[in-house]
Amino acid sequence: MRVPFYDVPMNIRLHAVLLSLSLYACWPAPAHAWGCEGHEIVALIAESRLTAHAKETVLRILAAGPVDPTLSRYCETTGDPTADASTWADDERRVRPETAPWHFIDVPRGAREADLSKFCPPATSCVVTALAGQLRILRDSSATAEARADALRFVIHFVGDIHQPLHAATNDDLGGNCVPVSWFGHAPKENLGRTADFAPNLHEVWDVEIIERFSEGETAQQIAAELEKRFHARIATWQAQSPNFDAWAWESHELAEKIAYGKLPQPIPIATPQPVTSCSDTAAPKLSEPENLAEPYQSAAVPVVQEQLARAGARLAGLLNSLRP
Ligand SMILES: [Zn+2]
Repeated sequence: MRVPFYDVPMNIRLHAVLLSLSLYACWPAPAHAWGCEGHEIVALIAESRLTAHAKETVLRILAAGPVDPTLSRYCETTGDPTADASTWADDERRVRPETAPWHFIDVPRGAREADLSKFCPPATSCVVTALAGQLRILRDSSATAEARADALRFVIHFVGDIHQPLHAATNDDLGGNCVPVSWFGHAPKENLGRTADFAPNLHEVWDVEIIERFSEGETAQQIAAELEKRFHARIATWQAQSPNFDAWAWESHELAEKIAYGKLPQPIPIATPQPVTSCSDTAAPKLSEPENLAEPYQSAAVPVVQEQLARAGARLAGLLNSLRP
């Protein structure tokens, strides 16, 4: 997820408030995402692939630097410390807003591969450099217990985020946050107090709604087990590859172009990259002309989402299995 004013958990919380005000009577309470469920699935797939040593090390590092008990947690506990750790970074961002840009990389549509570093401002960092930086802290046995535990939570989370296609692509639309979407007949609305922000929007659909729809009420544990089975052979290959964060981000970017943007029923032209700080700066579609997304889009997106979750879990396992005590 992305920056504070348009991050999905905030949207979700706002939805909850709006629901209680009966303003969102037609839109179901948003559930989980590459917010809760998506991140938990990634963590659970990884966990099932850990060596006994890595599993013990992960649990020990997390226990030695526990989460601040005063931090309000959005996701309900799963009972699994690694899965619970996977969603901490989205809560932590509220108290440390400087970590918000660490969750994504704004690679503009139409970019050519080669060097992603120009899309990763050194002043703020991005998911590629944040992941590398937190991994260094995690591997540094001289770092404090708190710093290593936080670094582990960031790594678990950012490996998930970097595999969400719209965390590695933008079209002057804040990674699809500014694209209003009608989702299976639920028309988008403006978010109260966020006049240029919509729900549902394209980013949120990829974070939350696609998973929510295909999971049909299953738990993260059930989905993780199913994906592991389905992608079994490929998971072993992904896990064995040496990590390349630029390549992972680029792979996500290409999936965003091909599917997240490419399968929109009303094609959106590639925008000329410009700085965008709010949806009002953009030429994104208007609220009155949302993308109408339903079964054809869901059918195109589900295999991508499932494969990206499996890839992320496998690659996270590869990283964590290389941890020293
Ligand atoms: Zn995130």
